Amino acid sequence: MEKKIDVLIKGQGVVGLAVALHLSQRQLEIALSTEQVQPGTVPKQDARYYALNKASKEILDGIDCWPSGSDVTDLREMQIFGDEASELSFAPVNMNRPLAWIVKASSLNKKLLEKINLQPNITLAMDEGLNTHAPLTLICEGKHSAMRKKLGVEFDVSPYEQCAFATLIDTGSPHHGKALQWFIDGEGGAEILGMLPCEGNGSSKMSVIWSMPAPKASQYQIKTDVDISQALAEVTKHQFPNLQVLGPSTVWPLSASKAQQWVGHWSSNSAWALLGDSAHTVHPLAGMGLNLGLGDVAEMLKTLDLRQDKEYWRKLSDRYLLRKYERARKTDILSAWLFCDAIQRLFSHPSAVAKTLRNKGLIGVQKLTFIKSFFMLQAGS
Ligand SMILES: Cc1cc2nc3c(=O)[nH]c(=O)nc-3n(C[C@H](O)[C@H](O)[C@H](O)COP(=O)(O)OP(=O)(O)OC[C@H]3O[C@@H](n4cnc5c(N)ncnc54)[C@H](O)[C@@H]3O)c2cc1C
Repeated sequence: MEKKIDVLIKGQGVVGLAVALHLSQRQLEIALSTEQVQPGTVPKQDARYYALNKASKEILDGIDCWPSGSDVTDLREMQIFGDEASELSFAPVNMNRPLAWIVKASSLNKKLLEKINLQPNITLAMDEGLNTHAPLTLICEGKHSAMRKKLGVEFDVSPYEQCAFATLIDTGSPHHGKALQWFIDGEGGAEILGMLPCEGNGSSKMSVIWSMPAPKASQYQIKTDVDISQALAEVTKHQFPNLQVLGPSTVWPLSASKAQQWVGHWSSNSAWALLGDSAHTVHPLAGMGLNLGLGDVAEMLKTLDLRQDKEYWRKLSDRYLLRKYERARKTDILSAWLFCDAIQRLFSHPSAVAKTLRNKGLIGVQKLTFIKSFFMLQAGS
């Protein structure tokens, strides 16, 4: 007999896997779609490390998927350099708690998948094999979501004409949990170089995310490790004499985007909702994208839990519940989206006025304790 599925989840990124595991703990029958891999395709190595905040940690702790050992590093301090010798630094208000944690993307995905395979109430199947009529479909397919396109949902995209170049380096000296970020007035346009401490608290390895104009990123993809080390040494003013590129290196095109509609219905008995990058993307300069996606997971769980607590007569496809989810998340995402977009545009504008503003801005933020607290809350709340 065919299993009755309660929730269909499309997408096997961190957001899809995390929401699947949380819902499976609520005695729901879950179907999770797997992507068809073309024969002979070698999976791309993910060079990313995510900066995750306390709320994201709680979501991953709740399904026993918080990474351990060298896969997680405490972020204890941040130092930001403007393009005219301005500087900004953050340290935690509470010394017992890091500002955030730096987590290895590939290890987190592996951990989530291992856990998924142990759940008897999660059925894995190829998209076309999922002939389910689930009351609720959660679309977590990432920014290129095919399902969102099929549904005709409008997706506002602001392309930055920039790419992020990511790689792993060894600086030759312990990072002590300190992240560094440079705003650079590059020849072909503005650039932001971020270096995140990773591979454990005692390590000297750092994850590099360098956003740069798209043509420059294409050149960097074919540069040798020695050339990249030299370029990094120049930007960092040779503060790491033994810097070495370890790789792998990857390039991501950058954009900010948001869906106009987050929830909808096929019939009175079946509904869909967007979560994670399927619904919104932001510039990685503030390390917020996945934190926002896991925020969607938390809100969806809170919304669906209302059925178990007080509003037990409501169906999984209930319009009121799904609208509630949409309203709550749209408000949260908007402030993060506007913040990242404004900073990115300020730092990429070539005019002298923008230059003065951004450098005065950094100096101003350094002095204003309450704004610093806001930034720190964004990074570590
Ligand atoms: C360079 C860079 C650095 C970043 N750093 C940070 C950071 O420090 N902190 C942070 O919070 N965020 C960061 N982000 C953002 C973060 O990577 C994303 O927000 C996050 O990965 C989104 O997760 P997701 O699960 O929604 O989507 P994705 O990670 O895109 O996952 C969706 C997955 O589903 C698959 N898929 C699509 N369709 C189907 C289907 N029908 N069936 C099955 N699978 C399907 C896709 O192939 C994909 O693997 C960074 C992003 C970049 C580019």
